Amino acid sequence: MRLLSLPQTNETSVQAPAAERRGKTAGALRVPQEGIPQRKLLVFVLIDALGWQIIKDRPFLNDELPVRMPLKTVLGYSSGAIPTLLTGRKPVETGHWNLFYYDPQGSPFKWLRWFSVLPEWALDNRLVRKLIKELGRRLLGMGPLFECSVSPRLLPLFNYLEKLNIYRKGGISGASSIFDLLESHKIPYKSYTYHQFSDAEILRQARADIQSGRESVYFLYLCEVDGLLHRNRTQETLISQRLSWYERELREIFVCALKRDRNATMTVASDHGMAPVHSSYDLVGRIARLGFKIPQQYLAVYDSTMARYWFFDSAARAAIIAELKATACGRVLTDAELNSLGILFPDRRYGELVFLLNPGWLFTRSDFNGGGWNPAGMHGYDPSDPNSDAIFLSNRTPPLPLNTIADIYPCLAAAVS
Ligand SMILES: [Zn+2]
Repeated sequence: MRLLSLPQTNETSVQAPAAERRGKTAGALRVPQEGIPQRKLLVFVLIDALGWQIIKDRPFLNDELPVRMPLKTVLGYSSGAIPTLLTGRKPVETGHWNLFYYDPQGSPFKWLRWFSVLPEWALDNRLVRKLIKELGRRLLGMGPLFECSVSPRLLPLFNYLEKLNIYRKGGISGASSIFDLLESHKIPYKSYTYHQFSDAEILRQARADIQSGRESVYFLYLCEVDGLLHRNRTQETLISQRLSWYERELREIFVCALKRDRNATMTVASDHGMAPVHSSYDLVGRIARLGFKIPQQYLAVYDSTMARYWFFDSAARAAIIAELKATACGRVLTDAELNSLGILFPDRRYGELVFLLNPGWLFTRSDFNGGGWNPAGMHGYDPSDPNSDAIFLSNRTPPLPLNTIADIYPCLAAAVS
């Protein structure tokens, strides 16, 4: 999903310790230049999928971070939400929404056309998808989280969004991110993500660095709560136990930050929430039974909570839209809705038509949910659903009102400027 690029080398880079040179590097390493005054310390922690509904009635750094509020997310998944959070821009401005978009000319998977003569069972099976996943991650520069979540037969028609590491300068194609801002202002910082570390390693390494380092900004992205909540959204005791471990670790980081700078700011935020799953619906089967040909008459990508369609035949378009409109567990998003959600792309690269499931519903089969995966929690529903809400927790009142995750960027920008 994200390209692991080597640490940039310039006059402010420092030599990574031996462990980091073996591949355990903490992202961009920066030290202050001579004569530049020390800024106030900022520790920003992004916890994937830790929604407001999960923590609002749980103790989670309540004493340390008394400024607490829910934030509306953007429709979609982390691939759209985090770039918005890091830039303050809508998906239509960042260019980042879902991971796969229609791009037959630019597809990095064109070579798969050579295998299109193979029968369906030989081309689309678990082994082939695993092979493509490994090729994508190791040879095609798709990053460590790349999954083959589109049928291999259709992949030559699609491009993949996150070839660059979005947690680095220039990682978000359509907009300037907080990392571009830090680099352009030569603000010393460290960022820690799944590209290099597990959550436990990030928390351990960040604490050590905050104790001994001289950077002004520490950006921690913790991604493992997402998986925990997908698997155990309704297991309240288990969630509490695991979150209390994160709480303890983050409290220690907060104490270290205050020891170094008593005016330090610590903020914990998330990109979206997680809704309990209660039902599933076989939309793939319903649409397939209409009998139209893929890819000659239409294309479909079934994400966990959204189906996206491209039409090349008017009869297919009319019949599929009629079927979707008769489907009670979701709805077709109007252009007005797509526009207000910031996802009305003029070239329709993410789909001419988007069908969104109601909260708590899941497709029985989809390109994203592999066979046999029955998550207890899912995200990617309407942002107006309370279970979609993200969080903002801080020890300081933000300098501007916050309503959505897009408001986090100006808040971060003000804190480092
Ligand atoms: Zn997730």
